[in-house]
Amino acid sequence: MRNRHRGLLKACSRNKVFPILLAMLLTASALLAGSCRQSPPAAESAAQSAATQAQPIRPPGLQMEFRAEDFDPTPQTPPALKVSGEKAYRNLLDFVALGPRFLGSPGHAKAEQFILSHLKGAPVEQDKFNVQTAAGPFAMNNILAKFPGKKDGVIILAGHYDTNYPLRNTTYIGANDGGSNVGLMLEIARQLRAHPPQGYSIWLLFTDGEEATVEWTDADSVYGSKQLARKWNADGTASKIKAFLLLDMIGDKDLDIDRDTNSTPWLLEVIGRAAQRLGQQSHFFVRNNTIQDDHLPFAAVGIPVADIIDIDYGFNNLYQHTTQDTPDKCSAASPHIVADVVMETIRALNTR
Ligand SMILES: [Zn+2]
Repeated sequence: MRNRHRGLLKACSRNKVFPILLAMLLTASALLAGSCRQSPPAAESAAQSAATQAQPIRPPGLQMEFRAEDFDPTPQTPPALKVSGEKAYRNLLDFVALGPRFLGSPGHAKAEQFILSHLKGAPVEQDKFNVQTAAGPFAMNNILAKFPGKKDGVIILAGHYDTNYPLRNTTYIGANDGGSNVGLMLEIARQLRAHPPQGYSIWLLFTDGEEATVEWTDADSVYGSKQLARKWNADGTASKIKAFLLLDMIGDKDLDIDRDTNSTPWLLEVIGRAAQRLGQQSHFFVRNNTIQDDHLPFAAVGIPVADIIDIDYGFNNLYQHTTQDTPDKCSAASPHIVADVVMETIRALNTR
């Protein structure tokens, strides 16, 4: 857990003490007063978000504007896909049963084959490359499944499949960190095969080399994303991408997705409103955070990005990057909630 999101963890430890103390004080006073559990700050933020909801979202530099009605479709409008949280969780179990998936390991090769076998029938590209990491040279492979839509433009759903290299001599399997997003993305792939996108194309990107090999720095992290963002910037693909939605650690039973200040603000607004429309706002954006992850190289080449991540995994994020990151800490309900909000986000993006 010290090898990733280092800036974030520093920020977390600084920012978390006060909210925890505040929560304890509020809980204590609520108990004393015998009143309900809703705190004044939560009520205030609900009022603020109701006020924000009336405003259109204007992505700077883009010919798009989201209005309130884009988030208020007729009740008959179905979400784009009905994704099964149970099947996503089943995929997680099967995937982590392959063992650790750190770079160069037999489990890593098995993970690639597992993903490819589950993507059979979809147009798949492999972006294989060799890279010098802080721990030596490694072969890496970004796997991309492209589901063509009817509109000109692409929405990316991405997440990494490797496990943390510094934990290679432990039983660490990254059930939530790597396993949960792969499980969900493979379930989405299953759905997309049966129900191709009617709007923008959807590409599922399984990134490699997200984890640091020694210690998290800009140089020693997100190797696969850096490689692909460079390539997409050079060949013009980057300009076709309407949104890059990153899924990371979305299996946590106790789901709380942070509002990441490194993500694109208007895209976070679209996601936040999608969550509100589905009544899932209690799981989204209660807390601000600043997160380093696979989205940064794509943001750097001008792609609108959002990191959908729950980095409060166990008390004080205790389970991240430890052997306690096991399937029993995850649920089928959490990927289900995330999938519904992502599908609703895609529906809203397709109105523009
Ligand atoms: Zn990790």
